[in-house]
Amino acid sequence: MDKNSYGFEDLALIRKRERELLERGIKAELMLFRICLRCGERKLTFHFSIDKRMKGNRSNVCKDCRSKESLRYYYDNKDRISRQSQKYRDDHKENRRLYNAKYREDHTEFLKNLAKRWYERNKKRIKKRNLKYYHENREACQAVRELWREKNREEIKKYNREYRRARVLVK
Ligand SMILES: [Zn+2]
Repeated sequence: MDKNSYGFEDLALIRKRERELLERGIKAELMLFRICLRCGERKLTFHFSIDKRMKGNRSNVCKDCRSKESLRYYYDNKDRISRQSQKYRDDHKENRRLYNAKYREDHTEFLKNLAKRWYERNKKRIKKRNLKYYHENREACQAVRELWREKNREEIKKYNREYRRARVLVK
């Protein structure tokens, strides 16, 4: 038999091989590419997010279209979304308060140091701001101060007594 001519058996084998290759190609194509249902573009599968509910475990819509959609959804529903998140914050206010209190309790030293460092860095600015505020609101500041003294009269007395005693000891 001539090298270039094929018998019936060979042809059948070639057809079979071709079919296999085609199937393998289709499988590879299915594994590597998807067509987005929104934009209709053929893209590599990693452009589609994983979605276990879908065939091939990937979304039918590409990530670009998805993010465009969610952006549009956000703008179309902005007011409702912000109302919802406000409601969520309100509903969880108590939880957050407890969480924050616990956090402060667990990190007392750390927070103290943080505040101290921040104060050291901003000392001049803070003093200037306080002084400016004091001058602009002198009467109110004095009233607050008087109120504070009134409330803490005993504490202040005690503090002064101890302060004097300590000075005497130093001398
Ligand atoms: Zn798309």
